[in-house]
Amino acid sequence: MRGRIGVSMKYSWERPADDKSSAGTASVRARLAAIGLSRLVLFLDFDGTIVPIGARPEDVRISEVMTEALDKLGRRLPIAVVSGRPVNDLRRVMGLKHIHYVGLHGFSYATPGKRPSWLAPRPPRRMVRKWKKALEAVAEKVRGAWVEDKGIAVALHDRQVATGNRRRLRRQALDALQVWVREKQIRLLRGKRIMEALPPIDWDKGTAVMQLLQKPWARSRVPVYFGDDITDLPALRRIARSGLAIQVGSIPDAPKTCLRLANSNAVEKVLCDMVKRLDGPAFRDC
Ligand SMILES: [Mg+2]
Repeated sequence: MRGRIGVSMKYSWERPADDKSSAGTASVRARLAAIGLSRLVLFLDFDGTIVPIGARPEDVRISEVMTEALDKLGRRLPIAVVSGRPVNDLRRVMGLKHIHYVGLHGFSYATPGKRPSWLAPRPPRRMVRKWKKALEAVAEKVRGAWVEDKGIAVALHDRQVATGNRRRLRRQALDALQVWVREKQIRLLRGKRIMEALPPIDWDKGTAVMQLLQKPWARSRVPVYFGDDITDLPALRRIARSGLAIQVGSIPDAPKTCLRLANSNAVEKVLCDMVKRLDGPAFRDC
């Protein structure tokens, strides 16, 4: 599956907004309105889509406008946030009760008000400790690199690593994990300024979204997916066939039928527009 390891996988980089951003926003608004807002089910990635990507995950703050828009929409439409973060982390950062949370690239899921459960078979924790130890040994020799233990996955972050040292860090990390790569006991997933080691289970955001679309709250609705990274491609490809796939920024190899928004600010504008259309002039502060 594309977006998974190997060593030769393409990398997804942030790109600045371009002059097509207004046209992109208008086009997305028009397509959403044409479907009918009350018929939609929304899936949104978090980092880079709902919020700009921060230096560290804990530095990220969701804007008041975005929070209000999602809160209001979440009372009218089913919304699921689909992220690589753990569900409890998403809940803590977002603080919204009326939306569904999908964490750990689709492995974990929580319906509003309920504790997280597993969408996929629960992966073993045993190997994760070994991957963590191997990656920490690499990270401690490269200034700015750090390792995040996500429970069933381990992430190596390089956003604070000098540009000239990132390639060396990635190469050393791949070397350190090579024994598991060779034995197909690990899956490596690369996103923006992050490389993650996951269990070798064929499961991703796309699989998770398709499973959620069988649930009563989503089954008869038209799916819309917003995502900014290579890790969103499985979901964007699947949703492009039956609903509206929207890439935020530019993702290599995104489906040609994907619409495009420039950045998370444009996502915010689109969501605010949906609030206004659904609820009329009462929410003009959005
Ligand atoms: Mg993202």
